[in-house]
Amino acid sequence: MAYDPNNIFARILRGEIPCTKVFENEHVLAFRDINPQAPLHVLVIPKGAYVSMDDFAAKASPEEITAFVRAIGQVARQEGVVETGYRILANHGRDAHQEVPHLHVHIFGKRPLGRMLAKD
Ligand code: AMP
Repeated sequence: MAYDPNNIFARILRGEIPCTKVFENEHVLAFRDINPQAPLHVLVIPKGAYVSMDDFAAKASPEEITAFVRAIGQVARQEGVVETGYRILANHGRDAHQEVPHLHVHIFGKRPLGRMLAKD
């Protein structure tokens, strides 16, 4: 799947759409989900043009991958959920219901999160 430069997260990265930023560095932006599924629901995205984890895992540089993983840890620490626990999730493609075609990792927390997957 080719990267669509007009997807909503690309537009957030270009500053065309606002977001509630919680973390940013050279390679990564993290912001609050507009429709939170838990009291803590943050999206962590690479600044590079990657459709999904599949694309990122295949093509991102070691520096980008390191920055992305470290940013996830940093956001969880700064949001105060390391002790209580949190869940990270990245949807790729149709079966996972990926809505936005720019890689994003969801971080959920600040409530009991139930079992890993729904049965249906
Ligand atoms: P996914 O199904 O993994 O692609 O999730 C996309 C997520 O992006 C959903 O949780 C949406 O609520 C969220 N989202 C969509 N538009 C925005 C936006 N403008 N700002 C913040 N989050 C958004």
